Amino acid sequence: MRCKTAERYISLKLDNELSTKLVSKLDEHLKKCSSCNEIYRQTALLHENLTAIQDVEYPAWLHHRIMNNLPIKTRRQSSWRLSLSYAAFSLLLFFSIFAGVGLGQKAYADSSDYAQIEEEEYLQLSFGDNSIWEVYDE
Ligand SMILES: [Zn+2]
Repeated sequence: MRCKTAERYISLKLDNELSTKLVSKLDEHLKKCSSCNEIYRQTALLHENLTAIQDVEYPAWLHHRIMNNLPIKTRRQSSWRLSLSYAAFSLLLFFSIFAGVGLGQKAYADSSDYAQIEEEEYLQLSFGDNSIWEVYDE
């Protein structure tokens, strides 16, 4: 086992997410490799300290107090920005519809050219070499 792999397995072992087979391989490496063994010792110590920390209960009123003390100016500013982004979105939507209709009308005007192409040619143009129609034709 390489040291890089061992370092990755150390955290997994401490989280009990390493299979017993890999744990024994890791332990084998830790016996031989002093630097990985030191990393394991340090990480285990850190892990032990972190798991000792318990979730701190905060009082129920804390959330309301924080929310009530937020500056009102920030809220107004954000709603002003929100309405600006709505305006930009509406403009973009309007432009997209306008451009789409324009393109559609142009494509419809050009579509008379397709009538001159024979049906066989048209199918090949539409679906290409991987056409599902050609598969069913055989
Ligand atoms: Zn190592």
